[in-house]
Amino acid sequence: MTIGVLALQGDFREHEEVLKRIGAPVQQVRLPKHLDLVDRLIIPGGESTTIGRLLVLYNLLEPIRQRAGRSLAVWGTCAGAILLSRRILDGKPEQPALELMDTVVRRNAFGRQLDSFETKLDMPVLGEAPMPGVFIRAPIIESVGKDVHVMSELNDGTIVAAQQGRLLATTFHPELTDDDRLHRYFLEL
Ligand code: GLN
Repeated sequence: MTIGVLALQGDFREHEEVLKRIGAPVQQVRLPKHLDLVDRLIIPGGESTTIGRLLVLYNLLEPIRQRAGRSLAVWGTCAGAILLSRRILDGKPEQPALELMDTVVRRNAFGRQLDSFETKLDMPVLGEAPMPGVFIRAPIIESVGKDVHVMSELNDGTIVAAQQGRLLATTFHPELTDDDRLHRYFLEL
């Protein structure tokens, strides 16, 4: 089982580091031929508009769409969560996206005052201990469809993690902490 990390833009190296630390085989994905080698794919944080354009340029958008949720488990963190969403609010016009999860996300939803912040998150699937939540110009998940399971919310009810079968979206950055429980969870998906 090899874990692909989409390595077009963003903080893919940090994801790779966590996977190496927990002993999972990692493959950087930059071209369709790399995608053939993996059965899981992490889409990192970064700039969703840039990653979206590069997905088109490198002919990765359609091959990911075809396998995602079936022979390919996909986890999007932050920009990755935006790219997975069926509907993007406050996106750039014509922003290419994978549109795989029945979620509505709003980009940069925390505004200037809260550009970046850290908090502790309740995430029952990971056990009792709170998960550190690092948010950087994060989107929020405004709503989810009936097949989507909400995994974690802020105290005010803002959805920050959701799962739809073998698709996972988190609006924060577990790869920037030393808590590797979500990476392990993804390996089980
Ligand atoms: N604001 C970025 C976007 O819209 C996401 C930020 C991140 O991935 N840390 O793509």
